[in-house]
Amino acid sequence: MTVHTAVVSTSHGEHDSTDSLLERPRRLRDQSRWDATADVVIIGGGAAGASAAIEARRLGADVLILERASACGGSTALSGGILYFGGGTEIQTACGFSDSADEMYKYVLAASGPNPDATKVQLYCERSLEHFAWCKDQGLRFNPRFYAKKTTEPPGDDGLLYSGNENVWPFNEVAVPAPRGHKPATMGSAGGVIMQALFGQATKHGVRFRYDTRAIGLVVDDAGRVAGVIARESGAECAVRARRGVILCAGGFVMNRKMLAEHAPKLLHVNLQIGNPGDDGAGILLGLSAGGYAIGMGEGFVSVPFYPPSKLVHGVLVNAQGQRFVNEDAYHGRSGDFILRQTGGVAYLIVDEPHFARPIAGMQLKAAGETIEILERELALPDGSLTHTLRFYNEHARLGKDPLFHKASSYLKPLEQGPFAALDLSADRAIVPGFTMGGLDTLPTGEVLGPDRKVVRGLYAAGRNSCGLPRSAAGYSSGMSIGCATFFGRLAGISAARADALGA
Ligand SMILES: Cc1cc2nc3c(=O)[nH]c(=O)nc-3n(C[C@H](O)[C@H](O)[C@H](O)COP(=O)(O)OP(=O)(O)OC[C@H]3O[C@@H](n4cnc5c(N)ncnc54)[C@H](O)[C@@H]3O)c2cc1C
Repeated sequence: MTVHTAVVSTSHGEHDSTDSLLERPRRLRDQSRWDATADVVIIGGGAAGASAAIEARRLGADVLILERASACGGSTALSGGILYFGGGTEIQTACGFSDSADEMYKYVLAASGPNPDATKVQLYCERSLEHFAWCKDQGLRFNPRFYAKKTTEPPGDDGLLYSGNENVWPFNEVAVPAPRGHKPATMGSAGGVIMQALFGQATKHGVRFRYDTRAIGLVVDDAGRVAGVIARESGAECAVRARRGVILCAGGFVMNRKMLAEHAPKLLHVNLQIGNPGDDGAGILLGLSAGGYAIGMGEGFVSVPFYPPSKLVHGVLVNAQGQRFVNEDAYHGRSGDFILRQTGGVAYLIVDEPHFARPIAGMQLKAAGETIEILERELALPDGSLTHTLRFYNEHARLGKDPLFHKASSYLKPLEQGPFAALDLSADRAIVPGFTMGGLDTLPTGEVLGPDRKVVRGLYAAGRNSCGLPRSAAGYSSGMSIGCATFFGRLAGISAARADALGA
C-alpha cells in the first residue's frame, strides 16, 4: 500500500483544462461495455474516499476506489493531520480540559458564518466522541499532551492544541473554550499517518483500487439515477458500473484558476495553494453535470501566517489607514481573512524591540524607525494615524485591556521600546496559503442535492467535493477539514451501501 508524499504546489493555473476533459453524463442504455462493476464506486482516495470505503465495505458492499494518481492519499496525506474532535475526548480530559457536545456545537455553529448548516453541525458535534473512537479503531493514536504555544502546527508529537479561535474573542464569549485540535502521535505533520491507517484498513477489508484512473464523466439511467463512471486509465477509456451508488471524494478546486476566478475571486490572492494537483474541481463539476448544485463556492481558507514565533502576537496589525482591524491572537486563518478585506489587502504587523522576531513564514521587513512617528512616516500612513493607534493601544495594554478587540491579556504588553519595526503582511507581498471550502450541497447522509433540494439519486459526495463545515473562512479551525471529510465520508459510505441496487 502506497501513499502520496508529494509537496504542496505553488504553481498557478495548470489545470484550466479540467472542464474540457470532462464529459456530459452518458445514458445507461447507450453504454454497452463495462470494464469493471462494483456496488459502490468512489472517485478519489483521500480521507473522505477512504472513510466512505471502509464503512461501505463493513456493510458488505463491494467497493471500488478510482484514483487519478499512482497512489492514494491526496491532500490528506500532505496535511498536518490535525482532526477536530470535542465533547470530552480522553485526550482533552487527560490534559485537564472539560468539554461537552453542547459547547462544541455553540462554537462550531458560531464559527460557521451567517448561513450555517445547523443539522450537520449538530450531528458532527453530537457524534464527535463516537467518531474519535472510530478513528482510534482505524489505528490512530494520540498522545495525551497539550501543546500550549500559538502555532500553525505543533512541531513535536503532542496530541492536543487550540487549532482555531476557541479561546479568543468573540468566540470565547459564545462557548466555553476548549482545545479540540487532535494530532495523531507522530513528529511533525501527521497527514501521512492518517492515510496509512485508513488505507491499511480499507485494503485489509477488501476494498479494491484502480490507480492512474481519472474520472471524467458519469453514466445516468433514464430516470436520472447515477449508474456508473467513465474514466481515463493509462490513456484509454474505462467504464465502471455502480450498482448502488457513486461517491464523489475528489477534493477541492484551489488548483483550478478558472473556477477560482468564477466562484472565489478572493482566492486569486492565494500564492501557496494548500492542496495537490487533483484539487482541480473535477468532482464538483461531475456532480453539477448530473444535476447537483454547489453552495458556498466563494468561501475559502486564506491565511497570512505571521506566527510562530508566538512572541509576534504581542504586535499590532494595522491597515493602510494605520488602524487595527482584528485581535492579533486570532487564528491565522481569521486574521488572514481580515487582511484580505482591508483596502488593497494592505497590512503591517507593528512590533517594538522586545517583541521583534523573524516569522518562520518569512515575511519581509517593510520599515523600521526609532520612534512610532518615524515608522508612520516610513510607511506613508496618514499623519497621526499609527501614533494614535499605538497611544490608545498602549494606554489600555498597561492595564491588561484591549477595549476594541479583546486580545488576551497574556499578549497585551505596551509597545514602547524602540526601535520599532513593521513586517509586511500585505496580500501581494506575504505568503498567502489557501484552499477552497465550497462544494456540492449534500444532506448529512452524503446524498447530493439539486437546485430544488431534491436528491440526485445514486450520487453522494464528501470531503472537499461537498460544501464544508464551517462555511466561513473567518471561523475555520484546523482539523475541521479532515474531521468532516472522515465523518461525513463515513455517512456517505453507509448511505450508498444501503441504497437499493440498480435493477433490483
Ligand atoms: C499542507 C496541508 C496541510 C493541511 N493541514 C490540515 C490539517 O492539519 N487539518 C485539516 O483538517 N485539514 C488540513 N488540510 C486540508 C485537508 O488536508 C483537506 O481539505 C482534506 O484532506 C481533503 O480531503 P478529501 O478526501 O476531500 O480530498 P483529498 O485528500 O485531496 O483526496 C482527493 C483524492 O481524489 C483524487 N482525485 C481528484 N480528481 C480525481 C478524478 N477526476 N478521478 C479520480 N481521482 C481524483 C486526488 O488525486 C486525491 O487523491 C491541509 C492540507 C494541506 C495540503
